[in-house]
Amino acid sequence: MILLTDDPKVEHIRNKIKADFFYDAPVLLDNDVQGQRVVDGKVIIGPRAGPESCYTNLVHEMAHLVEIDIDRINQHGWGLRYGKYWEIYGQSGYEPQTDQAVCREARVWALQLNLLQEYGVKIHATEIVSSAVYLSAFCYVKIRKKSNQPENDKRRLEVVARKVRSHRKEFTAGNV
Ligand SMILES: [Zn+2]
Repeated sequence: MILLTDDPKVEHIRNKIKADFFYDAPVLLDNDVQGQRVVDGKVIIGPRAGPESCYTNLVHEMAHLVEIDIDRINQHGWGLRYGKYWEIYGQSGYEPQTDQAVCREARVWALQLNLLQEYGVKIHATEIVSSAVYLSAFCYVKIRKKSNQPENDKRRLEVVARKVRSHRKEFTAGNV
C-alpha cells in the first residue's frame, strides 16, 4: 500500500495516531511488529507488512481491536484459526470451509477506512480489498455466475468491496 511510514508527508498523521491511541494505552505499539502479538500477557500491534511499514497497516490492526470479540483480544493472532484442522503424513494445517475470514476482514476494512477518513486519508473500498485474493477463504466468496478464474476473482473482489461499503455506513464513530 502507498503512504509508507518513512514518508515525511505522513509523519504528522503517524504522530497524531500515536497521541490519540497509544498514550498510556493498554495496547502497545511496536514499529517492528507485523499484525498483532501477545508478549508476557501484553497485546502489541504494529505497522509492518513484510518489508514495508505503513501506518495504514497499523490502523488495520486497530480496526481488528474494535471488531474482535473481547475474549480474543489478548490471544495471539486474535485467537483466530482458519477453518478445519487437517493432518496428512505428519503435515498439518487449517483449511477454510467458508468465506467467514473474508467477511471478518471486510468488517475490519470498513472500520479501517472510516478511521483513516478521520485522519484525512481517503482510500477506496476497491483499493483496500485487493489483498483479499491472498486470503485462503477468498474462493468461498459467493458469486452468481462462475466463469474463468480472473473473471471470478474480479467478481469476488466486487462482492467484498460492496460488503465494505455497506459496513462503512454501519460503523460510524457514533455506533462503534
Ligand atoms: Zn486483517
